[in-house]
Amino acid sequence: MRTDHVEYADFTGWVDPPADVRPPLVGDLACDVAVVGGGINGMSTALRLAERGQDVVLLEAEFCGHGSSSRNAGQLAGAPGGDLQLLNLLSRKRMPGMMRLAERAAHHVEDFIAKHDIDCDYEATGNAFAAVSRGQMGRVRRVAKIVTRAGGHVQVGTSEELGIPRGFVGGMREVVGGMMNPGKFTLGMRQVLLGTPARVFERTKVTDIRREDGGVVLTTPRGRLRADRVVLATNAFAGEWDITPKHLSVPIYVIEVETEPIDPRRLAALGWTSRMGLVTQHAIMENYRLTPRNTIVFGVRRLERGTRYPLPPRTPDPALVRELADAFATRFPSLADVAVERAWGGWIAITSSWLPLAGQLDDRIHYSIACNGHGLAQAPYVGTLIADAIVDGERHEDLQTLWQEKPKFPPPMMMGRLGLRMIWAVDRFNDRINGSRRNARRGAALASEPTASR
Ligand SMILES: Cc1cc2nc3c(=O)[nH]c(=O)nc-3n(C[C@H](O)[C@H](O)[C@H](O)COP(=O)(O)OP(=O)(O)OC[C@H]3O[C@@H](n4cnc5c(N)ncnc54)[C@H](O)[C@@H]3O)c2cc1C
Repeated sequence: MRTDHVEYADFTGWVDPPADVRPPLVGDLACDVAVVGGGINGMSTALRLAERGQDVVLLEAEFCGHGSSSRNAGQLAGAPGGDLQLLNLLSRKRMPGMMRLAERAAHHVEDFIAKHDIDCDYEATGNAFAAVSRGQMGRVRRVAKIVTRAGGHVQVGTSEELGIPRGFVGGMREVVGGMMNPGKFTLGMRQVLLGTPARVFERTKVTDIRREDGGVVLTTPRGRLRADRVVLATNAFAGEWDITPKHLSVPIYVIEVETEPIDPRRLAALGWTSRMGLVTQHAIMENYRLTPRNTIVFGVRRLERGTRYPLPPRTPDPALVRELADAFATRFPSLADVAVERAWGGWIAITSSWLPLAGQLDDRIHYSIACNGHGLAQAPYVGTLIADAIVDGERHEDLQTLWQEKPKFPPPMMMGRLGLRMIWAVDRFNDRINGSRRNARRGAALASEPTASR
């Protein structure tokens, strides 16, 4: 696969930044509820609060949608993230609640798209846990049992049965969910928010948060906001303040790349009739999805740890883009000559449980953070539920599922540079073994064919 003319984007490959960025906060202001962070999490919170008659102000450091909300792969998942076998082992009792939350979150986003008529190319295809080897297929079957037992809706099958490319052995389809252009979705949500009475200040980075005289004061470069309540929705960036609990999450940089447009006849020959988004069963997944512009967007494979705050703006490492391109050529041999056209990345927040977290630091400061790699569905849902909890004074059962009674968190395991390198190395070792087995099977098949037919 060719990677010699890649455009490295410092925002996203899905959309351009909005042309109507709102002015910053200047001077002193007061409100009932302040929301910090204008991703799909914070915007959903502010939107719901405004719908419910609250006096709400949203402060966003760049523009709403600048973070991972516009940069992700656009796969709306209908199952929880993380290692479901491990999750089942450690907290089996939580599985039905997490499963219910995941499916409801995906439906919530689908309803939001329909209600506001958001043009984001949504296709309700479901997504597949795709196996690249027989070993991964065994894991898929075990995960499918866990998900089904927890009340989730999935189908297991071969690649032909599921309508996924023949380069994969088979997989498990999450029936709920699908795929979209996340940039269009997020900027669409921004337009809906700007149409409400919520006051939105962009280019307004909150530099300090302090409790003062029975309220909370947020400091920004050119103004101050006093609020009765605050919701922190800054995802990976939350560690910038002293008030953020230790070990809440670890900031991790992940990337996506996009091919050049591919001849539709070559795409049709892949057998990808379901058009489902795919995630492999490596410890650190690879994801692959089709787009309406006849390209394939794919990514992740390596997690890169942020080591200091503020998190720096950055573009993908060309070595990782080449590594992803090599993996693409293995999964899609018939497209090995296609070029990578662009690459981008974003910061996500990973928790020790790989599950989203929400809770309160005290009776005035709420947080809703760290949807790991599954925030496209879960972040808007959790944001909406937090808003309802603030207004109603009671928590929905799905918010209760991930609610942290005390803001104390164990340090995330294996999330140091060395740990992440080791996980990557195990994945590559397994890939090499699978590659050798594939070659041996091909060799044996060739050897058993009659000479005349070769
Ligand atoms: C490459 C990539 C691929 C992914 N793929 C998927 C996928 O296919 N499916 C899926 O479900 N999830 C995926 N994710 C994860 C998903 O994008 C996130 O979980 C989700 O977008 C989180 O939304 P958020 O609103 O919490 O955070 P963000 O979108 O990151 O928003 C946080 C906002 O806070 C603002 N902010 C930060 N600090 C401050 C401050 N001090 N003051 C004011 N504002 C501040 C930032 O500018 C930003 O706009 C992916 C993520 C990435 C990066």
